[in-house]
Amino acid sequence: MAKINQNYLKLQGSYLFSMIARKIREYEDGHPNARILRLGIGDVTQPIAPEIIRALHQAVDEMGQKETFRGYAPDLGYPFLREEIARQDYQARGCRISPEEIFISDGAKCDCGNIQEIFGLENKIAVCDPVYPVYVDSNVMAGRTGEYDPAAGKYQGVIYMPCTAENGFVPDLPKETPDLIYLCFPNNPTGAVMTRQALQQWVDYAVRNDAVILYDAAYEAYIQDPFIPHSIYECDGAERCAIEIRSFSKTAGFTGLRLGFTVIPKELETSGERLWPLWARRHGTKYNGAAYPVQRAGAAVYTPEGRRQVAAQIAYYMENARIIREGLKSSGYEVSGGVNAPYIWMKTPDERNSWEFFDELLERANVVGTPGSGFGPHGEHYFRLSAFGNRETTQEAVERIRSL
Ligand code: PLP
Repeated sequence: MAKINQNYLKLQGSYLFSMIARKIREYEDGHPNARILRLGIGDVTQPIAPEIIRALHQAVDEMGQKETFRGYAPDLGYPFLREEIARQDYQARGCRISPEEIFISDGAKCDCGNIQEIFGLENKIAVCDPVYPVYVDSNVMAGRTGEYDPAAGKYQGVIYMPCTAENGFVPDLPKETPDLIYLCFPNNPTGAVMTRQALQQWVDYAVRNDAVILYDAAYEAYIQDPFIPHSIYECDGAERCAIEIRSFSKTAGFTGLRLGFTVIPKELETSGERLWPLWARRHGTKYNGAAYPVQRAGAAVYTPEGRRQVAAQIAYYMENARIIREGLKSSGYEVSGGVNAPYIWMKTPDERNSWEFFDELLERANVVGTPGSGFGPHGEHYFRLSAFGNRETTQEAVERIRSL
């Protein structure tokens, strides 16, 4: 008889966004004329920039011609894309990353979820609390955690690092030493960023303790402050302790096209083994590459015109972030984030719990956000608003919240 992977049964039932969708559906059933404004789920709303669409069309046309048709992509991605990433995202910032160290994929979620496969089950993971749920869930599926403790809202055997107003939503070094450390900055959900000095502390800590940092930089394009690092490899010694994961989703609106990459420096070793060949083997065995037209579209992001158009799109979203942040602040709400990140982290008024506030906002303002408690116990009494809406929706949603 076929047996299932019992670890899947440890996963907590309702995924945050399906619960939100259900609540919206139920409200709409009872109020068919309601015009609900969504500042919840972190999907983008602006169409893909024209220069990228042009490259995509051209690559699609190439696929229809005998002379230019392409079949399977190289396992680790096309050199034309990997070279631009290495040059513009890393070498231009002084990072010693070469094209061979970049693995192209169809997005950061897969990489964030899959990367744990190359590490032993005995490794102890540390995550921020609140946290993007994929890091913990993928480790639960693999069997790297214990049971879920409903009273604590945590899985046993995981080191949760509280991110609170007191520490500026940047975790302190944990008391118990982890083997794998998930960090994500600019952060989803809090919108917090890490200074170079703070990130250097984490790199030094990882080197000292033979730990590996899994650094999710999916939102690096939203950094406005020149003193905030875009990559962990801007820190000394990071090539010896860190893997970085990036996405084209929020940088260039590829949530529906799918493109991302993972950087594994060739010198990165743990327990005397290099990690680069393991991920290369995993990629070659389980993955057949991102589509050629999508990789061409990705390369167009790095052209001068592509860069200009993508920067304009990011500026548009960051103006939304400013409207949300300042609009709510001026009405007395306690908010953070939204300066170097597209997320605004808002304290719920009068210590209301996150889901209560969700229901109240839905019912009284017809506005949807994301309850902070869905990202971990320390997200309780917080609420995430996203800057990825269009301008009119964002302005109206802020006005509705202000008028509550
Ligand atoms: N990492 C973080 C922190 C995210 O918030 C998201 C998407 O919301 C992802 C990764 C997934 O990105 P992708 O669309 O490339 O799979």
